[in-house]
Amino acid sequence: MVQSAVLGFPRMGENRDLKKATEAYWGGKISQQDLLAEGKRLRLAHWKIQKAAGVDIIPSNDFSFYDHVLDHIQLFTAVPERYSKHKLAPIDEFFAMGRGHQKPATENQSAVDVPALEMVKWFDSNYHYVKPTFQDGQTFKLQPSPKPVNDFLEAKEAGVVTRPVILGPVSFLALGKADRGQSVDPISLLDKLLPVYEELLVKLKEAGAETVQIDEPILVLDLAPKIKAAFKPAYEKISSLSGKIPEVVLATYFGDIVHNFDVLPALQSLYALHVDLVRHPEQLEPVIAKLGAKQTLSVGVVDGRNIWKTNFQRAIATVEAAIHKLGKERVIVSSSSSLLHVPHTLDSEKKLDAEVKDWFSFAIQKAGELAVIAKAVTEGPAAVREQLEANAKSMESRASSKRTNDPAVKERQAKVTEGMHDRKSGFDVRYAEQKKHLSLPLFPTTTIGSFPQTKEIRIQRNKFAKGEITAEQYERFIEKEIEEVVRIQEELDLDVLVHGEPERNDMVQYFGERLTGYVFTTHAWVQSYGSRCVRPPIIVGDISRPAPMTVKESKFAASVAKKPMKGMLTGPITCLRWSFPRDDVHQSVQAQQLALALRDEVVDLEAAGIYVIQVDEPALREGLPLRAGTEREKYLQWAVQSFRLSTAGVEDSTQIHSHFCYSEFQDFFHAIAALDADVLSIENSKSDAKLLKVFVDESYPRHIGPGVFDIHSPRVPSEEEIKTRIEEMIQYLKPEQLWINPDCGLKTRQWAETKLQLTNMVNAAKFYRQKF
Ligand code: GLN
Ligand code: ZN
Repeated sequence: MVQSAVLGFPRMGENRDLKKATEAYWGGKISQQDLLAEGKRLRLAHWKIQKAAGVDIIPSNDFSFYDHVLDHIQLFTAVPERYSKHKLAPIDEFFAMGRGHQKPATENQSAVDVPALEMVKWFDSNYHYVKPTFQDGQTFKLQPSPKPVNDFLEAKEAGVVTRPVILGPVSFLALGKADRGQSVDPISLLDKLLPVYEELLVKLKEAGAETVQIDEPILVLDLAPKIKAAFKPAYEKISSLSGKIPEVVLATYFGDIVHNFDVLPALQSLYALHVDLVRHPEQLEPVIAKLGAKQTLSVGVVDGRNIWKTNFQRAIATVEAAIHKLGKERVIVSSSSSLLHVPHTLDSEKKLDAEVKDWFSFAIQKAGELAVIAKAVTEGPAAVREQLEANAKSMESRASSKRTNDPAVKERQAKVTEGMHDRKSGFDVRYAEQKKHLSLPLFPTTTIGSFPQTKEIRIQRNKFAKGEITAEQYERFIEKEIEEVVRIQEELDLDVLVHGEPERNDMVQYFGERLTGYVFTTHAWVQSYGSRCVRPPIIVGDISRPAPMTVKESKFAASVAKKPMKGMLTGPITCLRWSFPRDDVHQSVQAQQLALALRDEVVDLEAAGIYVIQVDEPALREGLPLRAGTEREKYLQWAVQSFRLSTAGVEDSTQIHSHFCYSEFQDFFHAIAALDADVLSIENSKSDAKLLKVFVDESYPRHIGPGVFDIHSPRVPSEEEIKTRIEEMIQYLKPEQLWINPDCGLKTRQWAETKLQLTNMVNAAKFYRQKF
């Protein structure tokens, strides 16, 4: 019989229960016991859900109160001393590493003040993990009462025999780094770490675990030779423990492993290998060819990263292909990755249009799909005829829906010409025109778009959403806000003004709500980091713009301003990346549709008298495919083209800005340059100005506003401090290239500090204006 398996389940619960509990605990509203009990309740609920859905192999130790990589830091006692020395309760030490900890001294305890460990993106997902941080002379020890064993026993007691999930030794080390001031190479710690894995695996076996899932997701990356080389000793050791430890399923996901096949010999004697066939279906054949003689293959055919219903016909064909080569006993039907990246259940969505709801599948529904696929290939399609028919109907409904087939959108895409990606003239000509038209001083000052989103703004937005005030009233309120923000900016003497974005809840949702092709959910939250969740909009169909989206507000703002007003849009790649995209057409097609909608908006803004237009692309970099090479080059090409398509429709005299919240341009500088934006604003206040050197080395000809202060902090940098930043910038960039602005938008700040920060910024700019 072919078994079904889930690689990991979302932790938050149906109503973000985990978020609520952890935040209540941090706020001192519930006790540690209450929190631990809530964790237990959620784990049990999630095991039972998967069991009820008919899943054969259910994971444990996938649950975490914050992050599973952070769990492993405690599991192996790799906790830096600055956290461990306080002798906090384990859960408090855990949170201290995840989010920092500050506590004044008490009678029997000295003061605690430690910042969090670094947190970074989990591969190319929107989930963030806590980076293991190692010391010179690092040692490891198994946690006294190891969490994977406890969780396994807890499930077993509840009648569910699970497959524990642990992060593999090579990935655990390779995803970590040396602590500040330390020089240890993490992978060199492998020998010290392996005995602890052995101890853990033996304990799991003793507890009754028959199989264990060891994740080595780094196998989908381009690996340095010494990392690759670490797989051999690591897995020869683990294989040598056969009989004393559970059977090992080695899991990879988010990519293909073909380029790392030279690592496979070390893995061939493990019981099973898991591969992601949603992202890379073509790896099935080569992987089968390389499989060990008795090895089982776990085929990831249900998407753990997106919310679409699985196409049963296609998934079953893939599984059958594996069975054809390996036989039923050697195939497991699985989710492509952990289901952590999809929302809990579709059943919570009461307001979704029935047509599109029928196309979606969230974690609970995906668990059910796995069981159906396994049954179909075990007993034959007749055993699940009804489900297969319903699924085929959904697929057919989606394929033939008006939403996914808008002839007007298709026609427009077919008519896109190469020339539409280019501005009328080169930068020199444009800049000359813009200079005349906008008459800006040297070192022009501006902000990135949003101003503080005050409590009052949120109250009025909620009232409007609930129908307690009319659209007319809400509009008047927004106008009043804009007028006020303009007045403040004029008092501050900024040069290019913004309207402040008071009408926008979120930089993607706001546009999604105004575009055809998007839908929104009420409960579809996914964990981003710790207790933070996001609810991405969903692109369900062809995208078009029924009406202007921002023109009214920008035009009003310009009408009450004496200085140039900057229009503010979210770029095509950011709209795409921060949504659940379609899986039935290539992302480049969706990006182009978004670009065309934005192009119309840009042209309409210009026609309404807005001659500076900023198109934000903070997500451009995170869309970079995990591996260098063709895939990455292709992405950059269509991503850059969609930005250019969205902005190139304007006259030379209109100035196009773009904005990025990061300063790592080194590895994809050519793409940034290819955007051909007249002005780029970038995050810079926390980085070394040396990073700007790349602009000099590559003779970047256009203008740049490296951020001069951090917008995440209420801290007010002095005028002198900002001058120092500008001085550093002048080391690398020509004065006429420079703009002076903050790192990013100011929506999370309070007005008090914002005014002080900007006053100092404007004064510093004026100082240099006089000097040159
Ligand atoms: N214009 C947006 C703002 O100022 C940009 C936000 C972002 O880059 N994340 O809020
Ligand atoms: Zn930003």
